[in-house]
Amino acid sequence: MSFFDHKDFDNHEQVCYFSDEASGFKAIVAIHNTQFGASLGGTRFYNYTNDDDALTDVLRLSRGMTYKSAMARLPLGGGKSVIIGDPKSIKNEALLHAFGDALERLNGVYVAAEDSGTSVNDMKIIHQRTEHVTGYHEKQSQEGGSKSGDPSPATAYGCYLGIKAAVKFKHNRDDVKGLRIGIQGLGNVGYRLAELLHNDGAVIIACDLDQNALAKAKRELGAEIVDLDDIYSQELDIFAPCAMGATVNEHTLKIMNATIIAGSANNQLDTATIGQLLHDQGILYAPDYVINAGGIIDVCYEHLGIYDAAKVNLHIEGIYDTLTEMFERSAKENRPTSELADTIARERLNQGIPILA
Ligand code: NAD
Repeated sequence: MSFFDHKDFDNHEQVCYFSDEASGFKAIVAIHNTQFGASLGGTRFYNYTNDDDALTDVLRLSRGMTYKSAMARLPLGGGKSVIIGDPKSIKNEALLHAFGDALERLNGVYVAAEDSGTSVNDMKIIHQRTEHVTGYHEKQSQEGGSKSGDPSPATAYGCYLGIKAAVKFKHNRDDVKGLRIGIQGLGNVGYRLAELLHNDGAVIIACDLDQNALAKAKRELGAEIVDLDDIYSQELDIFAPCAMGATVNEHTLKIMNATIIAGSANNQLDTATIGQLLHDQGILYAPDYVINAGGIIDVCYEHLGIYDAAKVNLHIEGIYDTLTEMFERSAKENRPTSELADTIARERLNQGIPILA
């Protein structure tokens, strides 16, 4: 099959393969669209079964970044990178430097940031070789102190607001008190999201592979812990996928009884047809790239050198309004939110480059 016929090609502007024999570095950088600015998106470091899976992943993720940034009204394009291999065994300084050199060769058309398998510290090491990386600066926190470049707290805050928007629309309630919220994955985003919801009186039901995270959630948040496969069939008001993609699929939908799906994971729906199924079954879905935009908003202000915690928070709070608009249009036009999200993102792409005050 020709690359240009790949089902996820979607008119990418540029896709580059990089390697460095000495460090074992292999990566793909996908640049989907630079209409609004440099393509900014995280670097996923993952042990893909094969290179085709890596290509599919990076293409889907980079397209999602174009839509995510357009939807969040950011002056950014969409791109993403994947480093192929198990980060636990092959990640080292030489390999990260090789990635920095690759970014330097791209001359700023793509800007990297942390993602699954990479950390703020990795971004600092990459920065030793290139300016085309972000998400590692110490920056002002909401409380007035400083915080690391980690965008996860911003992502968690945006998801929390997105859940509140969904609850308002579905149940006409401003609070989540007593609601049972299933969190799949208590990582950087999921744990913080669980904290925010617990502080508002929600009941947390959680699963994770990481026993330490589970024990902490049980101790600190009174979370009910369930096995990985049992999360879907719990009595839940809201299912919040905060681990991997494609966990909302035909199989899990059959056993799920939550009426809202809203979480941080990218590419939550296994296929596009699942969006229609959710709509038909009356399950309110907060599209992933809309609800999880808090991190890219945070990183965008950092990248542009205009970071101001109050402005960043205000921008993230726009996620509530965007989702509310989407839910209302979905009901009025009888169209799935997943489909409407793409429509609204395309509308915003046609409205000219956003300017951040
Ligand atoms: P993370 O790696 O810190 O956390 C993921 C957690 O999921 C880990 O605790 C892991 O043990 C757990 N997990 C893995 N497989 C699981 C399974 N089968 N069932 C339950 N738990 C499982 O990642 P993160 O930064 O918290 O991101 C979570 C998701 O949100 C990812 O899909 C990521 O792409 C997406 N996302 C993150 C950000 C961000 O700012 N970090 C921004 C946008 C989107």
